[in-house]
Amino acid sequence: MSELDRRTVLRGTIAGALAATSVAAPTRTDAAPLAARTSGPPPIAARRDGPTAADWKALERGLKGRLLRRGEKGYRKATHLFDPRFDGDHPRGIVRAANAHDVSEALRFARKFDVPLRPKSGGHSYVGASMFSKGIVIDTGGMDGIDYQPGSKRVVIGAGAELGRLHDRLDRHGRTVPTGTCPTVGAAGLTLGGGIGAESRMYGLTQDAVVDMQVVTADGKIRHADAHHHKDLFWALRGGGGGNFAIVTHLTMRTFDAHRVGFFFLSWPGHDAVAVIRGWQQRLRHMPRTSWANVHLDANNGSISPRIVGLSLTGDGHHEAKALIRAVGRNPSSVSYAQKSHREAMHLLAGANGHQRQSFVAGSDIIGAPMRTPALRDLVGVVRQRSRHGGGASAILDPLNGRAGRPKVSSSAFPWRNALASLQWYVGLPHPSPKAVKAGRTWIKHGHRAVAARSVGAYVNYLEPGRPVRRYYGKHWKKLRRIAHKYDPQGAFRSPYSIR
Ligand SMILES: Cc1cc2nc3c(=O)[nH]c(=O)nc-3n(C[C@H](O)[C@H](O)[C@H](O)COP(=O)(O)OP(=O)(O)OC[C@H]3O[C@@H](n4cnc5c(N)ncnc54)[C@H](O)[C@@H]3O)c2cc1C
Repeated sequence: MSELDRRTVLRGTIAGALAATSVAAPTRTDAAPLAARTSGPPPIAARRDGPTAADWKALERGLKGRLLRRGEKGYRKATHLFDPRFDGDHPRGIVRAANAHDVSEALRFARKFDVPLRPKSGGHSYVGASMFSKGIVIDTGGMDGIDYQPGSKRVVIGAGAELGRLHDRLDRHGRTVPTGTCPTVGAAGLTLGGGIGAESRMYGLTQDAVVDMQVVTADGKIRHADAHHHKDLFWALRGGGGGNFAIVTHLTMRTFDAHRVGFFFLSWPGHDAVAVIRGWQQRLRHMPRTSWANVHLDANNGSISPRIVGLSLTGDGHHEAKALIRAVGRNPSSVSYAQKSHREAMHLLAGANGHQRQSFVAGSDIIGAPMRTPALRDLVGVVRQRSRHGGGASAILDPLNGRAGRPKVSSSAFPWRNALASLQWYVGLPHPSPKAVKAGRTWIKHGHRAVAARSVGAYVNYLEPGRPVRRYYGKHWKKLRRIAHKYDPQGAFRSPYSIR
């Protein structure tokens, strides 16, 4: 697989690609204030002497799912995240939870013996935040049920349901939820950070579709968070990032009409790169919310190539493509179109190799307002520089406006409603040697510097080592810290990337 293919997979852009279980709706347990509105066993009395072999056995006996310990069959595979770079991490135990009760048992065990913990669902964290070598991983990946309820047009999703399966299931009913594009990303991890994708301008972020979350809080209690119960927690869980406030076990989401999709693919020569981004920025202001388009600036083998991948959910895409070309003011070197059913479209966006594990380094900036020509020149210059040194990389701009930009900034923890776009810096690493990782990271740092004047923050679903955590949360930082302290006073969810 070429490096370009890998990048294509990541953001679902198509260059080369042109050519269950069911789950019962979780029961509500939280119709009262924090202390009383719970179910489950009594408070956790912490011990400092660590778990014995008998304690681990007792944990195992209490689970409907599995406990995997070092050396056991299935353990090694269970440590694998999407990025093989993290394969060396070996936790003391992995609880493959079958239900919320298992999550509660595992969490109480970790708290009781003061063992650090990490929640996991799809395993796509950019920094490997869902795996470590210290304590216990509470893996909700097996809780992958998808139960569509035609009457209410809602879907109840297990935390570990993969996006590809979710779309396949909903498409049978002509329904969709706006998600990111990678088919194996987990529902919980994506939603907790926001969820940006090709249907975001039409239907909002993934988190905007959520009406209820079943969670296990740090005290081991199973709760529901929604617009009426644990409102502050519900607010924080939508955009506040994975692994911070509670472990999500189920999500209930509204669904939307799944439309046929008219794709368009536009490419320009490298010397038009500034004009392409400038035109795209201008067009975004007038683009109907039924359309979506992102920009890719790819560095490859000494050259750079700007391209736009776009779609219309109500037409064939020709009108929007022409409007974009007019806004860019330069004739593209290549234009193509494709009409797809919604299901085909989700597969196309997923990329031909979307299921394959791969190594990469990446990071992000949130672009607050349109970048002026000097800033655009700097951005293009950084990509050009990478290409001159023979390296592959992409800068990918995704729109944050349309329906995704409509809710008030204060309506959830996602802080970037008023921003123009997320800018992802991505370096595929077919051979992830320490030198290649370091070079990729250095390039991303140069990228941050190039757009510093227009960057207002970073996207929490694209975590990056070495960046201050508060950069992901904008003006919501203090409120999120207060909520984290309220629901997790002892810091059970503390990690290098957590809010606490
Ligand atoms: C190939 C690829 C494509 C992507 N495409 C997009 C995209 O189009 N749009 C977009 O918005 N994002 C995208 N992402 C980013 C992705 O949304 C985040 O990496 C997300 O956090 C991954 O979730 P996960 O469950 O798969 O990962 P995990 O590694 O399992 O979890 C991510 C974080 O959430 C925590 N967590 C996991 N499960 C739970 C739980 N049940 N309760 C509480 N916390 C939990 C973990 O501890 C970790 O901190 C992409 C990532 C990759 C690798």
